[in-house]
Amino acid sequence: MHPISPLGPVKVAISMDDMLMWRGSPVPKNYSSHSIARAMTQALTHHGATDVYAFSNTAPAEDDPELLRVFDHWVEQGHHIANHTHHHASINWVDAPTYIGDIERTEEIIARWSSRAPKRYFRYCNDMWGDTAEKQAAVGTYLARQGYTLVPVSVGFRDSRFLAAYWRMLKADDREGVAYLRREFVNTAMHELRLHAANARAVYGRDPAHIWLIHGTPLGGDCLDEILDHFEAASVQFVSLEEAMADPMNALVPPRVSPEFIHQVEKWALVHGVPVDDREPAILEAIEKLHPAPGESAAEIRARQQASIAERLGAKPAPFPLASIQR
Ligand SMILES: [Zn+2]
Repeated sequence: MHPISPLGPVKVAISMDDMLMWRGSPVPKNYSSHSIARAMTQALTHHGATDVYAFSNTAPAEDDPELLRVFDHWVEQGHHIANHTHHHASINWVDAPTYIGDIERTEEIIARWSSRAPKRYFRYCNDMWGDTAEKQAAVGTYLARQGYTLVPVSVGFRDSRFLAAYWRMLKADDREGVAYLRREFVNTAMHELRLHAANARAVYGRDPAHIWLIHGTPLGGDCLDEILDHFEAASVQFVSLEEAMADPMNALVPPRVSPEFIHQVEKWALVHGVPVDDREPAILEAIEKLHPAPGESAAEIRARQQASIAERLGAKPAPFPLASIQR
């Protein structure tokens, strides 16, 4: 397989977000957070990846405390749990005290697992660090005082956008459709790694150590092993999050207030004025045409997830503005 970079092997730390699926997410028959986590730890073990941090929202555990046993499994398998807020609101939708309160709420819930992790890490929801300078400073100062290190995402692949289509496909028992989605999911993971690694080389003239993100979705659980096979075949070297965090691209905070949904590589590209491509792949629109039904589109499911956050946290959800490089 064509290697990710012409410069040599690319270091990638795997990270996992939202092992407890967001409230309002459909769960296909025969799937659960437990079964997805088990599939993922098997894939990680298969590829020799240990010490993988899972950053999860915790609101679903209010409805079903049994869900927290997923964290037991994750830690038993040699991985770690870290804070990602309780309700998973974008920081754009709430004020600083609300966001901080939501971080504290999760810490109370996850303390018995997070306290065993070598590092006290935090990841912002949607990788959004504050849409105003004041908010960014207020939450950032709180996190620093509490001893958290902030972990960005350098490569994502919009994997949660496949959630609705995969659910519809499984519900329709469309075997060919399921196979098609799995193929496209793996292809998208490869495509996005190539794209963002190229963007990073455009900024740095080298390959920084990347922090890759996958979410705890049913499709993610079904495909992680194959994705990691492809990564390895394309000269990816899996490293720990601690090693990736030592790279200045990840360790330093880009001096930029970002209301947009963009990740670390592209934030730095915007800081330095390097033209890069961060447009979403066409496949995301194409899969919404498969087995459409009222109330079952990705947009309608997202609206329900956001309504839940609005109702319980008093958040004011709004669409994210696009950055110039996303148009
Ligand atoms: Zn998240």
